[in-house]
Amino acid sequence: MTIVPLLAEAGLTGRGGAAFSTATKVAAAHAHDAHLVVNACDGELGAAKDGWVVAHRLGELVDGATEIAAGASVTYAAHRGSDTALRLRAAGLRVLGVPPRYVSSEESALISLAQGGLARPMTKRQPFVRGGRDSEGRRISPTVVLNAETVWRAAQISRHGAAWFRSFGTPEQPGPRLVSVSTPVARGVVVETAAGAPVADLLDLAGGLPDGSPAVLLGGLGGAIVRPRDVPGLLWSDPDLARVGARTGPGVLEVLDPRDCPLGFVERCLTWAAGESAGQCGPCMFGLPALAADWRALVGGDDTAYDRVRSRVGLLPGRGACRFPDGVAGFAWSALHVFADHVEQHRAGRCDAVAARTTSRRTDAHVH
Ligand code: SF4
Repeated sequence: MTIVPLLAEAGLTGRGGAAFSTATKVAAAHAHDAHLVVNACDGELGAAKDGWVVAHRLGELVDGATEIAAGASVTYAAHRGSDTALRLRAAGLRVLGVPPRYVSSEESALISLAQGGLARPMTKRQPFVRGGRDSEGRRISPTVVLNAETVWRAAQISRHGAAWFRSFGTPEQPGPRLVSVSTPVARGVVVETAAGAPVADLLDLAGGLPDGSPAVLLGGLGGAIVRPRDVPGLLWSDPDLARVGARTGPGVLEVLDPRDCPLGFVERCLTWAAGESAGQCGPCMFGLPALAADWRALVGGDDTAYDRVRSRVGLLPGRGACRFPDGVAGFAWSALHVFADHVEQHRAGRCDAVAARTTSRRTDAHVH
């Protein structure tokens, strides 16, 4: 019997960020005899959970992939040279080596790569689970991509049942889920939790929210920045996170270091984003590098850069073949909003965070 009704009863949604119904995706895959790509790339900034699934739950992951594929072929995608790729190869599985760039593990980029093309997102004219053609007219055979945690959860549902799965989380977001948490004292700590858990508890499992931290980043580069004062009482669920403009997305949390300038943190993220795209659309080729350069100028005290940053953030969304620039624009927008006071400091040519760090270093030197 097909696993689709069980997945539908359990209410499993994709754990890679889009949160689309897994039952609907798998039903479409079965209807078109689609090839399955299991995405274990952990493409989002700070993500570590899919590598964790491969490292700690590989047997169940393979069981889940076999059941979902229902006779169609299966490939496991992992960044080239990563421990995850090595583990998958050592287990004798078919591995798709993905260039270690941010957008290479985007769904349509993986499908392109799996079919001999470049690891670049493709314009979606119809869902690739039905097959189709890329922008050069090359035939794309039916392929479905599922995140590694999603496939592992499907195996758990098959083994323990839909009622077991629904006994975790909330009615809207049922089931256990993994979250990758980074703090100033620990990076990429993988926590098993469920929707409705207090965000503060998740942070505590990786060292907590230290005094003076300027913010928490929820959802990586496509996510949103929230103030520490918003964290107490905040729950890890989409309805509750919506209050602060965030969502559970790919399950990533990062506490900013109180010793760092928060605008400097954003500058590093934007510079990284500008170098990570496949550079095939205008917003990525020109818009992201320009945004990163203007943000750098703002951090350096160039007051004129502020208006340029605001204008570029407004121009980026909705112009690329994928939503990567949209996500980065949302991230930059939330940083402008949450760090408004700090932006004013930089526009006035100073930075209290750097001043505090310099004073503390001087104090340290004196003590020692
Ligand atoms: S928007 Fe950027 S990342 Fe997306 S396909 Fe175009 S160039 Fe690539």
